[in-house]
Amino acid sequence: MPRVEFYKHNVNENDLEALKQTLKGIFLTTGQVVEDFEKKLANYLKVRYTIGLMSGTHALQLALTYYQIGPGDEVITTPLSYTATADAIEYVGARPVFVDVEKSTGNIDVNLIEEKITNKSKVILPVHLYGQMVDMTRMKEMADQYRLKIIEDAAHSLEGRREEVRPGQLGDLAAFSFYATKAITCGEGGAIATNNQEAYNWFKKARSHGLNREVAARHHDNFQHYDKEFLGFKANMSNIQAALLINQLDRVEDYLQRKEEICQKYNTAFSKIKDIKLLDVLPQVKHARHLYIILVPALHRDKILAQIKQKGVGAIVNYQPIHLLSYYKNKYGYSEGDFPVAEEIGASTISLPLYPKLTDQEVDYIIEVVSAVLEKY
Ligand SMILES: *Cc1c(COP(=O)(O)O)cnc(C)c1O
Repeated sequence: MPRVEFYKHNVNENDLEALKQTLKGIFLTTGQVVEDFEKKLANYLKVRYTIGLMSGTHALQLALTYYQIGPGDEVITTPLSYTATADAIEYVGARPVFVDVEKSTGNIDVNLIEEKITNKSKVILPVHLYGQMVDMTRMKEMADQYRLKIIEDAAHSLEGRREEVRPGQLGDLAAFSFYATKAITCGEGGAIATNNQEAYNWFKKARSHGLNREVAARHHDNFQHYDKEFLGFKANMSNIQAALLINQLDRVEDYLQRKEEICQKYNTAFSKIKDIKLLDVLPQVKHARHLYIILVPALHRDKILAQIKQKGVGAIVNYQPIHLLSYYKNKYGYSEGDFPVAEEIGASTISLPLYPKLTDQEVDYIIEVVSAVLEKY
């Protein structure tokens, strides 16, 4: 019986070579390699600036901090995401205000946002779930009308586009993650993308304790003092992380093609199975294909998942709705039924392996296993 991992990263010999060169140098922390990576990432995303950070969670937290979001403020977001999305809002002391999602895509339902806007609302924090972008054009209109900022959680959507709009282009800030299962990865890492130069300057300081000069800028023959302008974070990306990432960027579009191919195979096979529902991909969307989701009868989901796993296929759940996790449920008094569409998807969802290294044989095996398991329900 083959064993198919849920994810395999794409770090290759080129990346190891870049890492080796960095390790032979003097700067293991933030320096030239990070700067090179940031320029390359900005160029790829077609935004003016990016800032390398330790994680995507840091990116969200720093983004909220830049707009001085804190106690008494509300941030509008989705309950159907990884917990980091809402956690970042909690870290700054603000309140996450959840808006239910679209049944067809799992993305925040833009039609339901307006009724959640109050005089405490400061930011909309959408997630481009699974790699399908939300309608940023519409969201930007709404944000402008109510004077809200938009911080995009683009952790799933490095390669995503919607009507040629990319993450970080219409939103004020976009957060990316280079966590172990993301499109490009260095184990842990993150970045912010923005066209706002003032924000860029602030993040460069904020990621290194609020110091006016990071260590690479102080590495001179003449001793350079630093000053501290504000209380920043310890969230700076290291040269080690950047060395692993920088060449992966050259390969993401090829990888996306392979992921798309796998999704088409899955779609063809699974659209014939009556107990599997698939999410829609809208025609104006270029899907980043971060996760492949099947929706199965909620009553049997955990059993189905267990049986798929027993056959050696790495499958997982993305996501249990955030508002029903104990911390959020207890703190805000949520209960089942509060966000019915997110709950329905959360209760029926299974994520199947989706990554460029999957072989055709493995894809066939996954289809065979899933089809056989579902036949019994
Ligand atoms: C991975 C992820 C994050 C957090 O990224 P880290 O780099 O793990 O901190 C945030 N939001 C979503 C939707 C994610 O999938």
